[in-house]
Amino acid sequence: MTISIASQETSEQQLDNEVVLSVEGVSKKFCRDLKRSLLYAVQDIATELVGIRQKSEKLRRDEFWALKDVSFQLRRGEALGLVGPNGSGKSTLLRIISGLIKPDSGFVEIKGRIAPLIALGAGFNPILTGRENIYANMSILGLSKKEIDERFEAVLDFAEIGAAIDAPVQTYSSGMAARLGFACAIYTEPDILLIDEVLAVGDIKFRAKCYRRLAKLREQGTSFILVSHNPHSILSICDRAMYLSKGNLIATGNTDLVMNRYEQDLFLNGLEKSSGLMLLSEKARNSESDLYIIYLCFKDKEENILDYPITGEPTYFCVGCKVSKKLNDLSLAILITEMSGENDIVLNLSAYMDDCPLQIDDKNTEIQLQMPYLGLKPGVYSMKVHIAQNSLTLFDAIESFRFTVKGNKSMNQCSFYQPRAWKVTNKLSYTQLV
Ligand code: ADP
Ligand code: MG
Repeated sequence: MTISIASQETSEQQLDNEVVLSVEGVSKKFCRDLKRSLLYAVQDIATELVGIRQKSEKLRRDEFWALKDVSFQLRRGEALGLVGPNGSGKSTLLRIISGLIKPDSGFVEIKGRIAPLIALGAGFNPILTGRENIYANMSILGLSKKEIDERFEAVLDFAEIGAAIDAPVQTYSSGMAARLGFACAIYTEPDILLIDEVLAVGDIKFRAKCYRRLAKLREQGTSFILVSHNPHSILSICDRAMYLSKGNLIATGNTDLVMNRYEQDLFLNGLEKSSGLMLLSEKARNSESDLYIIYLCFKDKEENILDYPITGEPTYFCVGCKVSKKLNDLSLAILITEMSGENDIVLNLSAYMDDCPLQIDDKNTEIQLQMPYLGLKPGVYSMKVHIAQNSLTLFDAIESFRFTVKGNKSMNQCSFYQPRAWKVTNKLSYTQLV
């Protein structure tokens, strides 16, 4: 029995790192045409019955890969964010993991109890009441009647849907169904929880409560996979993220890096990908104006043009202008919005508001907004740029300059860069308190 001694010694460490879900080379194909997909299904069953069916790597007409060769592991207590554009295969992957559909190739290995929260109202019978559904749903998830009886009050308390618990589930709003689904799922005390966008329909207070509960479950060792289109939820909750596109696993690893890559792909296309520089064709500009913009770029403090600005670094935002006469009282204004959010404004700066009127002589000029530290966190942004006189006469404007900010400082779960220093002193401000 030598193994048990060795394993006891490291059992705690092993528990922490224990793989609870292993997905190996999973692929799944679907057919776009319903009629044809039925025909293929019949064909597959027939060939399987006579024993000649081979797992085909080939696609038949109208078929496509909803998932292609996806592999990853989930460890105990780990929170994995799953992101990707609509139709990229996220729900398909969760449905395969939860056993609702079978992959065409590859396999899934699960240790422990799994609770899928993967479609609103899934697992509920619409004509049964909430109360009856709690029993039905939790027993499908593997609990005995006695266990459900013990937890019933707690589920009701958590769901907070009041008297509606005795109404049929088909009369519930999507938020109420989500509340009941979430409450059932967490009180089965699953080892793995799969959450597919369902929290988005709950109200803000309920969502906050769910996220607090998720944090608690995680401390107790529950692992989960969270699909969300809200990058803030992914960034603040998950330690690792996975990015799917058209069924392929594009990136996996550190949440910040994966989200950054995903946002870049979503919001920037091809050419613009790593460009912190925007050159404007002079012909297309308003060349009748006394001043018009010919380029926008970011520079470091040695005035080298940057491919992309970096969080926490000294950064100059520069606007190159063609100027045909001397101008006073000019203002450069910038408004930066975050592409991944709901167009939230993150910076709104102008020389006019800062009481710094700019003077320009009649030569071509570069106006610089010098920032000792770039406070923007890594991500993809869009900037509006205006140059006006006395805040009234608009000379030129660029409506959308898209750029990516990258990070090289520790920006884990921070929403802006905080310049800082750490220090220990012997000076106590209060000595009388204890
Ligand atoms: P996501 O959850 O990332 O938005 P899905 O996993 O739901 O994407 O879908 C991936 C692709 O598979 C989509 O193109 C979708 O239309 C297709 N799909 C999903 N389920 C089926 C199905 N049962 N039959 C045919 N196509 C499907
Ligand atoms: Mg989906």
